[in-house]
Amino acid sequence: MRDTSRLLAEAASYDRVVPAHAPWSGLLRTGQTLRIVDLEGQQAVDALFYNASNTTERYSAQDTILALGTPYLATGARLLSNEGNPLVTITADTCGFHDTSAGACSCESNTVRFGHHTKYMHACRENFILELGRYGMGKRDIVANVNFFMNVPVLPDGELAVVDGLSQPGGFVDLTADMDTLCVFSNCPQVNNPCNGFRPTPIRVLIWDA
Ligand SMILES: [Zn+2]
Repeated sequence: MRDTSRLLAEAASYDRVVPAHAPWSGLLRTGQTLRIVDLEGQQAVDALFYNASNTTERYSAQDTILALGTPYLATGARLLSNEGNPLVTITADTCGFHDTSAGACSCESNTVRFGHHTKYMHACRENFILELGRYGMGKRDIVANVNFFMNVPVLPDGELAVVDGLSQPGGFVDLTADMDTLCVFSNCPQVNNPCNGFRPTPIRVLIWDA
């Protein structure tokens, strides 16, 4: 596997800070590497992936977990599509623990979990809808997603816990594309549980050419 951990920011072909609460999307061509930097630590980044030339082929958490034999994503994990093809592979990672079971926050789930007074709050699902609209997609194209830097241990009784993030300031995860992949991210705006340390912060996205 290609070791991307020594890539220099100066050599990146793309380098952008994504503000707290905001969505981001972009095309990652085969062999390119995308880095998400958790600038201030403990910031969850919700992510969806699509085959750029046929978006009906998209990330499948179920197939990815089945192939990995573990519910957590770390270096070496291949993120598989609903057709069993790798979209991207995690080629470097300082966190070692990424969730793909807990889904994305939404206004609806916020009201159920935290009370009706939270319904006005911005959520990852809204970010996904906004960003997918740029590619002719919508609600029906939101599938079970990846939550980078989000600490969601599966408890012995099978329940999921959302607990304090392990990701340190400046921590990063590298994704190298196995096919031309449309990446859609939500820099999670959640403030009602510890997934962002109760304080959403900016992230940085860099891309290096193959
Ligand atoms: Zn969220």
